[in-house]
Amino acid sequence: MAEHDLMEKLVSLSKRRGYVFQSSEIYGGTGSVWDYGPLGVELKRNIKDAWWRTMVHQRDDIEGLDSSILMHPRVWEASGHVAEFTDPLVECKNCHRRFRVDILLAEAGAENLESARCISCGVSGQWTEPRQFNLMFKTFMGPAEDDAAVVYLRPETAQGIYVNFLNVQTTARQRVPFGIAQVGKAFRNEITPGNFIFRTREFEQMEMQFFVEPGTDDEWFERWKETRIQWLYSLGLDPARLRFHAHAPDKLAHYAKAAFDIEFFFGGTIGDGGWGEIEGIHNRTDFDLGRHQEFSGKRLEYIDPVLQKRYLPYIIETSIGADRLTLAVLANGYREEEVEGETRVVLGLHPSLAPLKVGVFPLVKKDGMAEKAMKVHEELRAKGIPSFYDESGAIGRRYRRQDEAGTPFGVTIDGETMETDSVTIRDRDTMRQERIALDQLVGYVRERI
Ligand code: ATP
Repeated sequence: MAEHDLMEKLVSLSKRRGYVFQSSEIYGGTGSVWDYGPLGVELKRNIKDAWWRTMVHQRDDIEGLDSSILMHPRVWEASGHVAEFTDPLVECKNCHRRFRVDILLAEAGAENLESARCISCGVSGQWTEPRQFNLMFKTFMGPAEDDAAVVYLRPETAQGIYVNFLNVQTTARQRVPFGIAQVGKAFRNEITPGNFIFRTREFEQMEMQFFVEPGTDDEWFERWKETRIQWLYSLGLDPARLRFHAHAPDKLAHYAKAAFDIEFFFGGTIGDGGWGEIEGIHNRTDFDLGRHQEFSGKRLEYIDPVLQKRYLPYIIETSIGADRLTLAVLANGYREEEVEGETRVVLGLHPSLAPLKVGVFPLVKKDGMAEKAMKVHEELRAKGIPSFYDESGAIGRRYRRQDEAGTPFGVTIDGETMETDSVTIRDRDTMRQERIALDQLVGYVRERI
């Protein structure tokens, strides 16, 4: 399969199987916003839960937070977003499509604008002067649409963490080094959105800000880089499709001392030759707390009870998009195979992330097999194992439907089940079947998910 086909195939499979739909589709769709269907919402939720488990539940040194989307407008002045959250934008004079300069150059494979061919109409070097464009969505709070009531939809969740730094530190009685984690919506009026859910205007971030004593920041930065890539491996992402990309010193954001992206190989037109950022790891120094201290007039220093000194902690940030990671998980899992002269489409999702864990099928709808299968399905559900009951069509077709949906196990109730209380369990990836006693089924599945 050619790489550039993959995205199209994922869009089509997502719609067919209920992973992702275009937003407001019956009205012709909205630009670069997507809705998650029955299977998509489960996959994304499993990804967010996996993140929360490793970042919050399994650690004593990270606390959770859920801050609001609308914040005091001064937050975005302090953060630098009002002045700096802009991208240079150019327009093709021939077809009038607009592009972010960095994305255009990467996708056109050009060194500079003069030599860049328009990726929409193909005309070369016909660009307007780059213009700065602020990516924040503005709205109004209260009844009067005047300037005093302007608020922004947050473009990142991080600022909600910074302004709550002392609230969390004191109430959770944490000592530096410690972190605050949050999952939530962010909004960016992207100029060049696209590539399905890779770059959207409304998306979810999973961000963790780790507060450390200045001087220990380089060491923590390295530790977080390693921790985060290991987590991505644990989701079943192919290590050969993951790499670090260091930001060159002249490309660093205004707040950062060091920054690495973790990139995933999506292929096609994404990013740099198919490699696109999925997570950013940044050493933000004391920039954020310093700015909020300055703009709010409130002291945000940490008082170290051991060292007996006050200081503004440095921050190591890990920031990953839930939607982009969902796309990486889908792209990583998608494959087509030839089986007995037919193409089998498989979504090889890690069993822990798969929306449905088990498909339950009566071999035929007679001799009590359907009733027995329904009972097995209900028992799995009652044990908290997402299961899908399917009795329609040939058994092979039912397996294929679940292969495409990414369901790792298929349980078939057949004549032998009725006699010996055993079932066959089929592995999605190897298609091998084994017979196990029915009372071992829950344990068998649990062990593997
Ligand atoms: P890019 O260069 O791709 O625009 P960024 O460097 O601006 O990304 P960050 O601000 O570091 O991204 O955001 C952290 C993470 O949030 C990204 O790694 C990505 O996973 C996710 N993210 C950012 N913008 C979007 C978007 N428009 N749509 C989906 N996910 C996004």
